[in-house]
Amino acid sequence: MGKSNLWENYSQKQLKELEKLNQEYREFLDNGKTERECIDTIVNIIETAGYQELESLIKTGKKLKKGDKVYSVWMNKSIAMFQIGAKPLEEGMNILGAHIDSPRLDVKQKPLYADADGSFTYLDTHYYGGVKKYQWVALPLAIHGVVVKKDGTTVELNVGDNEDDPVFFVSDLLVHLAGEQLEKKASKVIEGEALDLIVGNKPLIIKKEDKAASAGNDPDKPTDVDRARRLMKAGVLGILKESYGIEEEDFISAELEIVPAGKAREAGFDRSMILAYGQDDRVCAFTSMRAMLDIKATERTACCILVDKEEIGSVGATGMHSRFFENAVAELMNLAGDYSELKLRRCLAHSCMLSSDVNAGFDPSYASCFEKKNAAFLGRGMVFSKYTGSRGKSGSNDANAEYQAHLRKILDERKVIYQTAELGKVDVGGGGTIAYILAQYGMNVIDCGVAVLNMHAPWEATNKADVYETYRGYIAFVEGAAL
Ligand code: MN
Ligand code: MN
Repeated sequence: MGKSNLWENYSQKQLKELEKLNQEYREFLDNGKTERECIDTIVNIIETAGYQELESLIKTGKKLKKGDKVYSVWMNKSIAMFQIGAKPLEEGMNILGAHIDSPRLDVKQKPLYADADGSFTYLDTHYYGGVKKYQWVALPLAIHGVVVKKDGTTVELNVGDNEDDPVFFVSDLLVHLAGEQLEKKASKVIEGEALDLIVGNKPLIIKKEDKAASAGNDPDKPTDVDRARRLMKAGVLGILKESYGIEEEDFISAELEIVPAGKAREAGFDRSMILAYGQDDRVCAFTSMRAMLDIKATERTACCILVDKEEIGSVGATGMHSRFFENAVAELMNLAGDYSELKLRRCLAHSCMLSSDVNAGFDPSYASCFEKKNAAFLGRGMVFSKYTGSRGKSGSNDANAEYQAHLRKILDERKVIYQTAELGKVDVGGGGTIAYILAQYGMNVIDCGVAVLNMHAPWEATNKADVYETYRGYIAFVEGAAL
């Protein structure tokens, strides 16, 4: 159990499968750097695999039967997938649940400005989720997201990830000038309000004849600095208007996310790892979705939920606290001809869930933050966390021993390698997932996922073997019997 390195035990056939899965995983990461992009990517993949949209089935009133594959997207940012099992829904489902939001910088509603001297144009940001702010300076960044215009049309922005695209960056101070800065605490060395993105450094060019025409006509002749500032901002605004049809006011109804620019890469001479943005928790989202596509016909209905807003407390209409999932299950039962409020409650209470989220991989450079016996190691298998939380398990979902025993049996039968871990040592670590929210229905839930090194950094690392093993574990769980 989690003692030996996975790589030593795989057959040639398994190694081939492992590489293929990780190739797909990297493509998944590259195509989905925001929640919306993840949903688009997932819907494309699962529709090809025969999944049908729940809402369209509701319209036609088509009755659901065993083996049917259904999905429901909520506000373009969360999704629930179901594969109907042989047993009545009332008996419960096997649920995989991961999140598809990741820490980043979000663009503010009134973001665009030029500095006092008119030397640069900036987009002002507000960071999203837990970030070490100093990690987000002086590296190439991309802008992904949507601008929704008053007429309801949506402009999709995706700049910085194609080879010919420009990138963006947050400046940092030259080390020679940073004597005072370097004395500051790491949490203060880059302040939140200093995380402003440089997006331009060239003023709007006004043609000579236009300049001559306007000369002497201005009653409040602006100072040179006012003019420099206005033209610097106008330079970028002009490009936004010309390239995307976006006006400055349109930022009010936009969701633009600043993410690291660049593709997911293999890491190490041995290519054993993946280094990429957003692996918390897209590594579990990908493996969960992929498991759903590869399961056989199941006894219990199989379910996978991939949700938004975990990094900021699972709030909002698309976070796990929203009722969208419960509503989708109610609709599903209705289409299966088997709905009542009581049956819905039974279905949820009798379900079993893996809250599929990442865990902090043991880092030898920071060994003192871990308690080795109860730490997750990269390359040693799928990670179970009975509890997370902090300061005496506070805020955690402490899973039942009976449930963990049940899972041990299922995984051992399929020879899935797993390890157990806490998130850091006592009174050092802590954290939360969506586990406790689903547990409110009375269902068995445990945290389970992939170990990650430098989690929440712009570039996070995982081991390919853990990705593969977790995928295998998810299949075993979903196909497995009820507790
Ligand atoms: Mn997470
Ligand atoms: Mn996280």
